[in-house]
Amino acid sequence: FSEISIKDIDKVANSCFPLCMRHLFEKLREDHHLKHGGRMQLGLFLKGVGLKLEDALAFWKAEFSRKVGAERFDKEYAYSIRHNYGKEGKRTDYTPFSCQKIISSTPGVGDHHGCPYRHFSEDNLRTALGKMGVGGHPMEKVMEKVRDRHYQLACTLTFEAVYGTSCDAGINHPNQYFTDSQKILQ
Ligand code: SF4
Repeated sequence: FSEISIKDIDKVANSCFPLCMRHLFEKLREDHHLKHGGRMQLGLFLKGVGLKLEDALAFWKAEFSRKVGAERFDKEYAYSIRHNYGKEGKRTDYTPFSCQKIISSTPGVGDHHGCPYRHFSEDNLRTALGKMGVGGHPMEKVMEKVRDRHYQLACTLTFEAVYGTSCDAGINHPNQYFTDSQKILQ
């Protein structure tokens, strides 16, 4: 699985994205906008998942145009998408963020990046887990890990509850969560 197309992206997001990326994806669909931190976190993840630059530009433009208009997207936002792909500035080929990096980020008001296990309120986290189909005993186990500040373990338990299989290696990268879930669903 080395490529993802725009027409499959909602289905894939719903079945294979870890909670941090599901949240960003949903907010982008809802608000037709994400602030810089969210664009970086989701944009680099999607690049890692195999979304090609031209598809990435089309995907972000379709959403942002509804909020700021196509012209402003081209002027103000297209650059940062190309930048993620190493096509602007220093031409660094940026790598998707690891869990550790995301967990230690500090989202401000109006930001949607970060790790939900670390950055959500308990109520919001419970609602989000419920939407992923996690409830009852597994949900309490996840919340226990969150209280102990073992956020990646909480994510690992979520993975195990969602896919009904063990994840012995644990989750340490959102793109690893994605590839592991792909392996199970294929
Ligand atoms: Fe995302 Fe990692 Fe947090 Fe899971 S533990 S939600 S993959 S940052």
